Amino acid sequence: MHVIGTAGHVDHGKSTLVEALTGIDPDRLREEKERGMTIDLGFAWLELPSGNETSIVDVPGHERFVNNMLAGVGGIDLALLVVAADESVMPQTREHLAILDLLRIERGLVAVTKKDLVDEDWLSLVVADVEDLLKGTTLEGSPVVTVSATTRDGLPELVGTIDRLLQEAGPRKDLGRPRLPIDRAFTMSGFGTVVTGTLIDGRLEAGQEVELVLGGTTTRVRGLQTHRRKLEEATPGSRVAVNLSGVSPDRINRGEVLTVPGWLRPSSAMDVRLSVIPDAPRPVRHNMFVTVHTGSSEVLAQVRLLEGDPAEVGETTWAQLKLSEPLAIMKGDYFVIRSNRATLGGGNIVDPRPRRHRRRHAPILERLAVMEMGSEREILLKSIELSEPGEFRALVNRANLDPADAGAELEAMVSEGAAVALGKKKIGPGVLLYTAAGWAAVSDRARKALEDYYREHPLRKGEPKEEFRSRMGMTPSVFNAVFARLQEEGVAVEDGTMVRLPDRERKLTGAQQEAADAYLARLEAGRFSPPTDAEIGPEILNLLADDGQVVKVSENVVFSASVYQEMVERIRTHIAERGEITVAEVRDLFDTSRKYALALMDHLDHQRITRRVGDARVLR
Ligand code: GDP
Repeated sequence: MHVIGTAGHVDHGKSTLVEALTGIDPDRLREEKERGMTIDLGFAWLELPSGNETSIVDVPGHERFVNNMLAGVGGIDLALLVVAADESVMPQTREHLAILDLLRIERGLVAVTKKDLVDEDWLSLVVADVEDLLKGTTLEGSPVVTVSATTRDGLPELVGTIDRLLQEAGPRKDLGRPRLPIDRAFTMSGFGTVVTGTLIDGRLEAGQEVELVLGGTTTRVRGLQTHRRKLEEATPGSRVAVNLSGVSPDRINRGEVLTVPGWLRPSSAMDVRLSVIPDAPRPVRHNMFVTVHTGSSEVLAQVRLLEGDPAEVGETTWAQLKLSEPLAIMKGDYFVIRSNRATLGGGNIVDPRPRRHRRRHAPILERLAVMEMGSEREILLKSIELSEPGEFRALVNRANLDPADAGAELEAMVSEGAAVALGKKKIGPGVLLYTAAGWAAVSDRARKALEDYYREHPLRKGEPKEEFRSRMGMTPSVFNAVFARLQEEGVAVEDGTMVRLPDRERKLTGAQQEAADAYLARLEAGRFSPPTDAEIGPEILNLLADDGQVVKVSENVVFSASVYQEMVERIRTHIAERGEITVAEVRDLFDTSRKYALALMDHLDHQRITRRVGDARVLR
């Protein structure tokens, strides 16, 4: 299925021509008819000689309603530019042509209509004018057909040309991700809410669950129609009316996008390749406010020029548009900017989820150039760089690639060492991706972070894992995947609750070693009642505990390791012989005080060596 969009100056005969072609009056609103002017979109359809059916979106020509023209012209396969023979090229002929060019509409034809009002000489001058006008645009060299909607002269030739051009266009791409930019939402008695638009990038089925991206509403397709006929499935490139359950049309604005749930998120900025049209009344300046039109939407935005300021008339440059309201957009979508009722320029969206950039910064400009024109692999690498680590689904959406193709390309990149995948074995949703350089930087950063930690805490074995995570600045889920990989690669080791470098060595200074030796000697001498006020720093004490030379059973009770072992053995023997032991018995057994006995037994409970039963302990 295909869609034709009309274009051309007001009163040049667009609606009359559509009606002559289809028998359908596209001016659907009565007051428009009374005033004899199309102000909003009109819709009609037509069966061509080949048997193919096509939709026609008739757009208003008046300069006040260019916004409505823009809402209708997105997603069309063929532009029908209408020029009245008696008036020839007029301002909105130029403006609409410039818009078709900005939106990269490659297929089109011109109908020079009202030929009954002029003579042959005049007509050939108008045709020559039009051919000249098309030069340098996407429509250069398109067929020009002369017609009269009144006498129907030339209509068969016009229909034949349309048929041929659409056959050459071939079917629309199906990425399995339908998007329906909504141009109308209304209530139909007996049906409820109906939205209409030109379906792109995938199919819609009756009964299917769908999402309204900007409203964040999930709902179901109750019914589908195209050309007033009921359908089970709508194919990309068709004009469809979708009957939705449980949403009020008041909550659906023009510019809303209907799609399958869960993958397309609203964006608040976009990086773009912006061309200022040669007919623009003024250059585009940095921080200027403009209206952005893309799909069927229209929002206010502020232009951030990333290269020179201003962007002169006729110039093409990199820019970021900061949107006043979120839009449901994708890489590769086309847009137009206008200000004070004049079209200034437009182009295509290169990154739908950018960060704020430094201006005149070569690496950013280079990255944008790759995102626009690069190979699939280059685009994937840049997309990863932009969000390192990039989650598979987010990357595919950002790069606007087919998920299966992107998955295969990423597999190849990983096996060739150009990218690193964390998480599951097979590349798919949930897998996190780094570029090779990005991963090397993370691994380097991890090692440096631990080295820094050691510099601050020279006697500690490792850093608490949670503290290490927050110093790496990672969310728990990213950190877990990263840490697993760091361990696999032998960069870091998990040691109890600590993270350490694999070859961690700690050395005491001469003075520290003397202090430690003296302390150990005092502990040994104190036997079962060691000193509790021993002045040894917590750092050295930790090291001695880590090395297994002492056992810290409470905040201030520390036994030498050999004394501790002896006590544990004697308690085990006692319980084995008598069945249990009390704190008083421990105290007497070692001829010590209750303070030591209690600290030791609590510690043994904690170590799951003993278990408390009433006043006594038994073995676990
Ligand atoms: P639109 O604004 O481009 O949609 O223009 P309309 O279709 O409303 O046409 C504007 C006027 O031109 C109307 O009065 C039509 O009757 C008249 N018109 C349109 N096509 C022809 C034609 O082929 N010949 C003549 N003589 N008049 C036409």
